[in-house]
Amino acid sequence: MADHAQVLIVGGGIIGTSVAWALAARGITGIEVVDLDLAGVYASSELNAGGVRATWWQPVNIDACKATLDFFRARAVEFGFRERGYLWLYAEPSLWARALEKRALQNARGLGVEALPAAEVWPRFPLLDRAREEIVGATFSPRDGLVNPNAVRAWYRSEAQRLGVRFRNRHYVAGVATARSAGAGGRIRRVSHLDVVEVARGDPTDTAGTLREILTTHRVPPDAVCAESRIRCEICINCLGAWSSVLLAKIGVRDVTEPVRRQIALIHVRATDLPPETRLDSLGMIVDASGLYFHPEGSYVLAGYSTPDEAPGFDFAYDGDSFFETEIWPRLAHRASAFERCGHVRGWAGLYDVTPDRSGIAGAVAGFANLYEAHSFTGRGVMQSYAVGRSLASLVDTGQFAEVDLSPLARDRFDDPSRWVTEDLHI
Ligand SMILES: Cc1cc2nc3c(=O)[nH]c(=O)nc-3n(C[C@H](O)[C@H](O)[C@H](O)COP(=O)(O)OP(=O)(O)OC[C@H]3O[C@@H](n4cnc5c(N)ncnc54)[C@H](O)[C@@H]3O)c2cc1C
Repeated sequence: MADHAQVLIVGGGIIGTSVAWALAARGITGIEVVDLDLAGVYASSELNAGGVRATWWQPVNIDACKATLDFFRARAVEFGFRERGYLWLYAEPSLWARALEKRALQNARGLGVEALPAAEVWPRFPLLDRAREEIVGATFSPRDGLVNPNAVRAWYRSEAQRLGVRFRNRHYVAGVATARSAGAGGRIRRVSHLDVVEVARGDPTDTAGTLREILTTHRVPPDAVCAESRIRCEICINCLGAWSSVLLAKIGVRDVTEPVRRQIALIHVRATDLPPETRLDSLGMIVDASGLYFHPEGSYVLAGYSTPDEAPGFDFAYDGDSFFETEIWPRLAHRASAFERCGHVRGWAGLYDVTPDRSGIAGAVAGFANLYEAHSFTGRGVMQSYAVGRSLASLVDTGQFAEVDLSPLARDRFDDPSRWVTEDLHI
C-alpha cells in the first residue's frame, strides 16, 4: 500500500526546501520532501562558498539573484548576510571590454556596479599589492556579498515545517513508476545502489505521461532494518541537484548535466601580515583575474579555484595540501604579499551540477503531465534559491511563473543553441 503526497519533492537541498516552503506558503497542503541525508554531507547546499551576487551577464540570472539577494537583505541578521560587495579583477582586455558592456545591462537593473580603472584598484584595496601591471580594470558591485547558506536552508525548512511540510530523512529514492495518460498502471522495478531508476515506459510519442509513484529505501529504527516505501504523488518535483540526471535519464529524459568536483580551502593569515589599513572582515568576495576567488570567513580566508581540467564524476575527495600548494597559494601570493606566509587549515570538495550553457534548469518536464524540475544551478544555487522556489511554486500552482520569469531556463532550450542562456561570468 503506497503513502500519498499531493506534492512530492525529491531532494531536500536548498532548492528543494525553498520550493517546499514557497508551495506551502501558497496554502498547498500534502507536501513531502524526501532526501537520503538532510544533514547534507554530500549536498552542495552544505559545501559551497556562501558568495551571493546579482552581477551576472544573463538577464534571467541577474533577476533571479537580485530577487534572492533582496530577500536575504531583508533578513540580514538571521541569514548572516553581509553586503560587502564583489571585486572582480580583469587582466584580459577583451574580457574587460565585455565586462564594461555588461555593466550597462547590470546597472539598468539597478545593481550600481562601479567600473574601476586599474590605477584606482590598489588605493581602494591595499591588500592586493602585487602584479598590478597585469590588471586592466575591475568592477565592484557594492550590493553583492556573503551569506550563511546553512542558515538560509534551515530557515526554509523550519518555515516549511511550520506550514505542514513533511520531511522524510534517510529515504533513498530508488525507483519510480510512470503511467501513460490512458491510465495504464506503471510498474516499479527494484534497482540497485545509484543505478537508481528503472521505469515502465509507454509510447514515447505520448506527451502526457504521468509520474505515479516514487519508491524509497530507508532504515527503520531501532534495528535499522531496511524497508521500502512507495509514495504515490499527484505532482513530483525533481530537486536532486547534481543527481538530477540520474533520475531523469531513467525516465527517458535526455541527460544534459554533469556533476563536476569543486574544491575550497580554508586558510589562515596573520593579522600582523596584513597592510595596516586593511581589515579582513571589511572585505567581500574578491575574484582574481586568474580565476581564484576568496573572501574572509570569520578569522580565516576561504579560497576556491575551479580547476579547468576536472573530469565529471561524483568525486568528493579533497586534494589537501597539494590543492592548496598548487592552485591556491601561488595565486594568492601572486596578488597579495600578505598571503606569502599564510597557512592551510583544511578544505573540502563538493559538486557543481553543470549544464552546457552553465545556467540552471527550471520548469515543467516535457512529456510528463505532473513532473517539474529545479536543479543544475552550477555555482549559483544559493543565490537563486528564493526566486527559484517562489517562481516554481507559482508555476506548479497557477501554470505561470511569478516574480521572476524562469522560462528561459526550460530544459528544451538545449534543443536549440540559439536559446542557450550562456553564462560566462561564472567561477
Ligand atoms: C565548492 C562549491 C562552491 C559553491 N559556491 C557557491 C556560492 O558561493 N554561491 C552560490 O549561490 N552557490 C554556490 N555553489 C552552488 C550551490 O551550492 C548549489 O547550486 C546549490 O547548493 C544546489 O542546491 P540543490 O538543492 O539543487 O542541490 P543539493 O544541495 O546538492 O541537494 C540535493 C539533495 O539531493 C539528495 N539526493 C541525491 N540523491 C538522492 C537520492 N537518490 N535519494 C534521495 N535524495 C537524494 C542529496 O542528499 C541532497 O540533499 C557552490 C557549490 C560548490 C560545490
